[in-house]
Amino acid sequence: MKELLKIILKKFHLYHPLQSSYRNFLFLKRRAQTRRVYASLRGEGFICNVCSRQYKEFVPDYPTRENREALHNYQVIAGYGNHIFCPYCLSTARERLVIAELSEIQETGMKILHLSPEKNVYHFLKQKGRVTTADILPGFYRTIDGLIEKQDATHFTYPDNHFDLLVANHILEHISDDIKALNEMFRVLKTGARAVLQVPYSELIEATLEEPTINNATKQSALFGQKDHVRIYSLTDYVMRVRTAGFNVEVIPYRALQKYYKYAIQYGESFLIIKKLAT
Ligand SMILES: [Zn+2]
Repeated sequence: MKELLKIILKKFHLYHPLQSSYRNFLFLKRRAQTRRVYASLRGEGFICNVCSRQYKEFVPDYPTRENREALHNYQVIAGYGNHIFCPYCLSTARERLVIAELSEIQETGMKILHLSPEKNVYHFLKQKGRVTTADILPGFYRTIDGLIEKQDATHFTYPDNHFDLLVANHILEHISDDIKALNEMFRVLKTGARAVLQVPYSELIEATLEEPTINNATKQSALFGQKDHVRIYSLTDYVMRVRTAGFNVEVIPYRALQKYYKYAIQYGESFLIIKKLAT
């Protein structure tokens, strides 16, 4: 019955918009609860670079039982741990890292491509220029941007040398042909443009663990720590893949990101400065 309803809703293009509205409802409920619970922890400690509120502690987030083993075994930096969500606006550690890094860019009027847009990053990017949002399943994101386009990252319809900045935060671990997606990303960026392509990664492994054609949620959780991931990147291999697509990559280790610790960024996560330089 549930499956039939899903098929009917999908046929009339109602499934993803309804799911998105429901997720928004759950988000607002959770936000109200968290604000209540953390009210007594207001004060100096961490500051959110989305809502500017200060708390002694942010909200932790830990992986579910089915995802835990793979993430633990390979010590994957995947967005879990202490101080992940802002207790006031529920911004995530991964959003705050990207916002902190991109705040250093003074340029405005940029042409920006934001894939699978996260709400807080999207609102931040709008101050920097004209943002085009896109996803393979745009319905999920209509509550963030009603104009979101349907795009396949391995076959963009955009012209060459078109964007000044690309933000695809935690996207590539979902895409079977990530090499093709990286080549497409390189193609649509102008010379001198930057890309934010953070992914979950492990520093314990030298080779990326992957099964690009897998389509089994239970197995994907067990192997890669999330039901829709097709790999766990080795950091060194990931950097090599991005470089092979033509990009210049500079890895800024977590210990060099001290100036952002106050924003409760993801513990241990390196930031990759990725640029399309003139050849
Ligand atoms: Zn906040």
